[in-house]
Amino acid sequence: MAYKDEQLHEEKVFKDPVHRYIHVKDRVIWDLIAAPEFQRLRRIKQLGTTNLTFHGAEHSRFSHSLGVYEIVRRIIYNFKGRRHWNDDERLLSLCAALLHDLGHGPFSHSFEKVFKLDHEYYTQQIIIGDTKVNEILRRVAPGFPQKVADVIAKTYEDKLVVSLISSQIDADRMDYLQRDAYFTGVSYGHFDMERILRVMRPIEDQVVIKSTGMHAVEDYIMSRYQMYWQVYFHPVTRSAEVILTKILDRAKHLFEADDFTFKLEPTHFASFFTRSATLDEYLKLDEAVVYYYFQQWQEEDDVILSDLCERFMNRRLFKYIEFDPNKQMGEVKALQQLFRAADIDPKYYLVIDSSSDLPYDFYRPGEEEERLPIHLLMPNNELRELSRQSDIVEAISGKKRTDHKLYFPMDKLEEIKDEDLKQQIKAILYDQGEIQDVE
Ligand code: CA
Repeated sequence: MAYKDEQLHEEKVFKDPVHRYIHVKDRVIWDLIAAPEFQRLRRIKQLGTTNLTFHGAEHSRFSHSLGVYEIVRRIIYNFKGRRHWNDDERLLSLCAALLHDLGHGPFSHSFEKVFKLDHEYYTQQIIIGDTKVNEILRRVAPGFPQKVADVIAKTYEDKLVVSLISSQIDADRMDYLQRDAYFTGVSYGHFDMERILRVMRPIEDQVVIKSTGMHAVEDYIMSRYQMYWQVYFHPVTRSAEVILTKILDRAKHLFEADDFTFKLEPTHFASFFTRSATLDEYLKLDEAVVYYYFQQWQEEDDVILSDLCERFMNRRLFKYIEFDPNKQMGEVKALQQLFRAADIDPKYYLVIDSSSDLPYDFYRPGEEEERLPIHLLMPNNELRELSRQSDIVEAISGKKRTDHKLYFPMDKLEEIKDEDLKQQIKAILYDQGEIQDVE
């Protein structure tokens, strides 16, 4: 039997708190899960620094990836025999679902920002490069790894397959919303996925939703909206991420300085600082490694690096004020000067952080990030864009919300010896609004 058709003698199941069970019957999927590049995802948390806000949020990209695979498996099971669905695309869809996050590094967002990395690029490289995952995919067919990479990059010709994994209602989002809700313990993020799966239909190049399932989809869109603002952009999580980013900035600065010697050289980071990291080096960096450095760097002679690491490890976070960059940049300039006068480097200790989200959007061709809208399949077989049928979705459709915050270490400001300087800084901060705690 061809490798692509090989089935396990007995179905394997993973116990999963969100989907109850994750079912694996294909030999290819089973082998991919066992590959070192996939096992690595156990050592990368799905939500980075969110566990400092919601202590339950320790779940990994490994469990999320299995979850996305399971949802796609169930969707395809329902599609079997329907017009427009080509069952030859089954294994390809399952592999792309399983591997879609393979290139995520530790604390993805901070690392990508500081080192100008792109996890999507690394996902592609792991799939088409010299890896165990590639070896397994090549056994299916020589061109198969590239096909999987194309589905994940959204360039694959069969857009129906692409839409299973990336659209405004896809298996990726359906898994992370429920999984992140479960592990953070918040009451948002829940919606009736079973119902949505039952009303999904393949139509030519996209997945549509039977109009009878509209309310379940509304619930899903609102869940997403609430999760972004209540969990993903939580100001405490952002504060930890600001500190993490600054640790990496500082380590890079010291690495490039001629007159500084680390007690623990940043060996695992070196090729990232010089932007020359190989795929192998990329795969070696996981969160366990990062925590080890941060733990050790608390002892470094550089007071900024040791302080920031100590803050991160012991959750001594920055406080913040709400901030409008269009109106308050003058105050930031003044604060920067006062910080310098107090010998607190504003580059590391006065940080503007912005979050923005677009909860749902109808189709706007040619825009920077084109989003395919969700279509309802009406009883007369017409397609209708969701926000034209749902008042709830219409209300938030196309509305981008952006928040800016200014972060700083209040405890450090309290320690300023020069009373006059301290009062000047506090006066500006208090004048801008209430100082928000991050406890
Ligand atoms: Ca994902």
